Amino acid sequence: AKVRYASANPESRKVHETALKVLPGGNTRSAIFYDPYPIAFERGQDVRLWDADGHEYCDFVCEMTAGIYGHSNPVIREAVTRRLDLGWSLGGHSSLEAELARIFSDRFPSMERVRFVNSGTEATTFSVQLARAVTNRPAVLGFDGGYHGGFLAFATKPNPMNVPFEMITGIYNDMEGSAALIDRNASRLACVILEPMMGGGRCIPATREFLSMLREKTRQHGILLIFDEVMTSRLSPGGIQTLTGVIPDLTSLGKYIGGGFSAGAFGGPAEIMDRLDPRRSDALGHSGTFNNNVFTLSAGIAGFKRLYTPDAADKLNARGEALRRRLNQAIEDAGVAMQFTGYGSMMSAHMRSGTIRSPGDAAHANPRLRELFYFDMLAQGFYVSPMRAFVNLALPHSDADCEALVTAVKEFISSRRSLLT
Ligand code: PMP
Repeated sequence: AKVRYASANPESRKVHETALKVLPGGNTRSAIFYDPYPIAFERGQDVRLWDADGHEYCDFVCEMTAGIYGHSNPVIREAVTRRLDLGWSLGGHSSLEAELARIFSDRFPSMERVRFVNSGTEATTFSVQLARAVTNRPAVLGFDGGYHGGFLAFATKPNPMNVPFEMITGIYNDMEGSAALIDRNASRLACVILEPMMGGGRCIPATREFLSMLREKTRQHGILLIFDEVMTSRLSPGGIQTLTGVIPDLTSLGKYIGGGFSAGAFGGPAEIMDRLDPRRSDALGHSGTFNNNVFTLSAGIAGFKRLYTPDAADKLNARGEALRRRLNQAIEDAGVAMQFTGYGSMMSAHMRSGTIRSPGDAAHANPRLRELFYFDMLAQGFYVSPMRAFVNLALPHSDADCEALVTAVKEFISSRRSLLT
């Protein structure tokens, strides 16, 4: 499959070789690198992408969920173009910050007060640092395989790129083990952070019981509960917190919230967030030149008000549920060891059968098969997330696009049936 890929993509290879001279590995985003070299895109429209070699793809990566509106969406384009004419980086506040913050606060029950940042990484890092500051405790509990941005990834192996604070790692969806870890470390724990469905960790939903247990335990010990909803906030009009009714203390957002531009935000009740109020004598500082950049804010507002309305969110997630059911039905009909996990508009393929409750369960499958899935889907004209087999829907995906994806997955199954055992 890689030989076929290399011979079909000579221009992408040239882009990579030029980049190798000035970027480590020719790359500036580790998560999208793969061997022998990643594809180089030239343009996108709606959910179509064109690469340097002129191939057309139907995009099911959608910038890892940040591209919910599709490429060059006219509503987002109009909002940003208006701002181009008014000037940007004006070096002060505008009415846009409060307008987008109000939308978050109306939609996400935990976000009474909001602060903006530039990425999901900053959103989770500031959330955790705020929790450490207000509780005056040092340690952070997360879950194995949990990815919360470039500074904060939980794994059994230490990651020297992490922020230098004490991290304790539990197992996702493990009720007893996690409860015991919290009890044992309670006096040192500032917060527990998790995605209420693991996104980067391959679309593994948390059970409601697990989330409720964490809510109860953290409250009991004065530990803050942080939901990283950078990816999952799209899964209902009010994120997974609304869906489950388990309300965290702090929430971090990112991805699509800036209409596809660099974005991040974190928020919580006034009681916690107001420690960032600069008028206070005990104020904690939080700055960032581009925190309130007008492109992100105006694109974000246009997106929520005119495109990803609560009704549109419900519809997109219903379509995702239907697509995942169809994919799993095709797998069941073929009788192969494979499954799609996820919720709503986010799903991930696993090349094994059996229940998957944590990334450890997912890891039992052969990673080469996931690689094969990527290259086979690409050869059929579908861009799914490189090496993660992550698929997500954007608003412009049509029923025909979803149908075509199911057909392509069926083709993958029938041509690789002997490996899917
Ligand atoms: N948290 C989660 C759950 C994410 O999926 C990501 C990005 N994949 C981040 C945080 C970091 O966001 P960003 O890449 O914008 O820094």
